[in-house]
Order: sequence, then structure tokens, then C-alpha cells
Amino acid sequence: MTSGGAGRTVRDRCSEPGAASAPDGCQVLDLPGGTVLPGLVDAHVHLCADGTAGTLDRIGEPGQDAIAAVIEQSLQRHLAAGVTTVRDLGTAVSPCSTGAHACGAHGLADGVDGIEHCSFLTDKGPSQSEQDLARLAEAGTAVCPTPGMAGTPEPTPNAAALLAKLGMTFEQVMEMNKRRVGQMHAAGVRVVAGSDGGIAAAKPHGLLPVSVAFLVEGGVSTVAALASATALAAAACGLGDRKGRLRAGYDADLLVVDGDPVADIGALARPAAVFAGGRRPAGAA
Ligand SMILES: [Zn+2]
Repeated sequence: MTSGGAGRTVRDRCSEPGAASAPDGCQVLDLPGGTVLPGLVDAHVHLCADGTAGTLDRIGEPGQDAIAAVIEQSLQRHLAAGVTTVRDLGTAVSPCSTGAHACGAHGLADGVDGIEHCSFLTDKGPSQSEQDLARLAEAGTAVCPTPGMAGTPEPTPNAAALLAKLGMTFEQVMEMNKRRVGQMHAAGVRVVAGSDGGIAAAKPHGLLPVSVAFLVEGGVSTVAALASATALAAAACGLGDRKGRLRAGYDADLLVVDGDPVADIGALARPAAVFAGGRRPAGAA
């Protein structure tokens, strides 16, 4: 990518930043008030799930063609939200192959590269001890707590039963989860952004900006929250040498948002232009 005055040009690879003018024949895009970021990396999605109620129960019913169509549509939704890289955690029919998909307060196995969800849920409710967090921080384990939901969903019967057992409202659980991810980050745990996109109506594909905002609401700085959805997530996916940063030689996966997400994380939900490998995908901003 080269920057020249108000214009920005994009090639399929990032080049050294500088004041060089755009090469001849390059299309120059003028997006005043915009901020260029690395394309977002969602470290936890379920591409086979379509983000509707009961989707996990229906996986395995449609034929291969239908699954391909669901995956394609899922990817389009991520691109539209500025997410240019996803890690698919699979589903019931395609079990996750990366990371441990959940963890309990005492289920932190040594040698685990990454932990997904990490709810620390026990039958007495969530518990997240300082010792657990210190162990995770010391091990440098990437933890993907997959926070954030679209709107305030009606709890499923199972969730309602759990809430009743815990004696908590949905809103109280969300507030507790915000504090929890904030504590996790403050304890030095390598928190990586992921949405769990696809698994429910409240978890649509393209939810990542909401997940990042959730971290900020939990007390994580905007800069750190943005890093969790770019450089840290790329590293957790084994792509840290070519994605997640604006750096010479890196893939030109770019997101231009309307506004400054460091000052207002809400800007992350306003994509003005998306580039994947230097190209603007059809259907994305
Ligand atoms: Zn998941």
C-alpha cells in the first residue's frame, strides 16, 4: 500500500509506507475521514452454520451443494463486515481441529495452544480464579472468549434453565462476561478476538466488530482490542507473518472504516472499503 496525500492505493501486497505518489494506472480511492486498518481476523467462526435459530441441529441435513452455499454466504457476511480472514472451528459434523473448544476452571491442559470460549463455567456458575488467569498469562496461551451478541436475544430453553439455576438475568450475565474478559486481559492473558459467528441467531457471521466493542466495554483499551482482532488473531491462526498488520510484504487485506476506531470503537462497524489480497470483493464495501 502506498499513501499519497489524501489518496490511497492498494496493490496485492503492502509496500513500504511513504509519501510516494500512486504508480501510473493505479486507481486512487479517496476516503476522507477514514482509517486504514489490517483486514480483521475472526479466530472463531462456524462457516457451516448459517446464523439462524436451530442451525446447529440442522447441520448434516443438507447435501454438499447446500453446505457449500452456506459457507459461501457466511464468508460474504464476514467480508461485508471487514473480516478478511476467519478460522473455522467446525461443527458437530466437522469437529474442531484447532485449540480446545472449551475449558473449565480446572481443565487447563498443559501444551494447549489455544482455548476457545473459555467460559470457566462450573455447575455453581462461572468461576475465574486469579491463579487460572496467571497460568494462562504465563503460558502465553491464546484465549478466544467469543464475546458479544447481536441485540438481546430471547434465551433458548436451555439457557433460560441455566439462568434460573444461577439466579441471574441475561443482562447480568452479559455484564459479568464483560468484566470477566476485562479481568482476563488485565491479568496479561493473550485475548484473541473471535465471534463464534454462525452458531445462533444472536451470533451471525460478521459479528466481530461487536465482539471487539464488547472487549472495550469490559475495560480493554481500544488499541489492545483492535490488536486482538488483527495481529494477535492472525498469530493465533498461524498467519502472523503475513496477515494482521499493515507492513511491507504482508498480504494487502485492508479495512477502511469511517472514523477513528481508536477514539470510538463504534467506527469498526462502519466499513467504508474492504480489500482482500488487494482486491475489493463483490458485495463488500
Ligand atoms: Zn464455537
